[in-house]
Amino acid sequence: MSDNRSLWPPGHFDISYEFFPPKTPEMEAQLWESIARLAPLKPKFVSVTYGAGGSTRERTHNIVARLAAETDILPAAHLTCVSAARAEIDEIVRDYWNAGVRHIVALRGDPPTGVGTRFEPHPEGYRSSTELVRGIRAIGDFEISVSTYPEGHPESRTIDDDLDALEAKIDAGATRAITQFFFENDIYFRFLDKARARGITIPIVPGIMPVQNFKQTANFARKAGASVPDWLAHRFEGLDDDPVTRRLIAAAVAAEQVLGLAENGVREFHFYTNNRADLVFAICHLLGVRPVTEKAAA
Ligand code: FAD
Repeated sequence: MSDNRSLWPPGHFDISYEFFPPKTPEMEAQLWESIARLAPLKPKFVSVTYGAGGSTRERTHNIVARLAAETDILPAAHLTCVSAARAEIDEIVRDYWNAGVRHIVALRGDPPTGVGTRFEPHPEGYRSSTELVRGIRAIGDFEISVSTYPEGHPESRTIDDDLDALEAKIDAGATRAITQFFFENDIYFRFLDKARARGITIPIVPGIMPVQNFKQTANFARKAGASVPDWLAHRFEGLDDDPVTRRLIAAAVAAEQVLGLAENGVREFHFYTNNRADLVFAICHLLGVRPVTEKAAA
């Protein structure tokens, strides 16, 4: 690990957390426990994903609306173009506006047939993430985050395709990009340099995936076009039946990555939490992000 003492005294970091809508009451309880644990770290926002094929439409809305109504956390609702007409999507967006939600993460999404199969827009739907961003912008003055892919989206031929797509989304009204996860920081910095060289100035926030389960993460990475370096596989080798050591290694790996990014000037992080707080809480602690008690806030 490089010399992270230069992070002392700690600077200010903007943190956001991503959750997914749970399927069972037990998982729902875990979600709200995790949110309660992370809330005192005063995240910039908390985002809630939209299930493949729009499968979590109601559940995403309910969690986001509850966050807006019952907490002081700023929620961001993910939304995709999949399997819905424009009028339906616009109605969801207006519902969010009426519920006081002012931040949407706008995505094209993957076809219901799965990642890697060809995306066919709904006959009356938005045909791309750029169109969706434009549609949301026409409805209200939302903050609009979009995705971006430092290693290339599986459907793009070159990184320039991804930067073209990002530029189109910014022209349509996007205000922040969140990256697909990556494990080699050089990949992020190369992408950032290319984006800045093109005159892209919006925040390009690294998406950090703590490896809660190596096999699952590696599988997901393969479909998402993110590379899994050999050294990472080596670190988790032989730990399939040892969840305690696995978690310690996961914390060490994510800490090394995040501190390395921070050392090189990154001040904003988006954590894929997998609805679990502990690992992410520990990493934020290392960055110097501490719970803000009511007393301290006063
Ligand atoms: P887009 O911006 O639409 O496109 C991504 C890239 O694909 C572009 O850079 C472009 O180079 C290439 N591309 C797209 N279309 C074409 C084409 N026709 N020809 C050539 N190249 C093309 N999915 C969900 O279902 N729900 C979620 O909540 C969700 N949240 C996400 C959050 C983040 C931060 C990220 C990174 C991804 C998320 N996804 C989610 C996954 C996303 O929906 C898929 O990766 C999808 O395949 C692309 O949608 P997009 O908006 O990310 O990409």
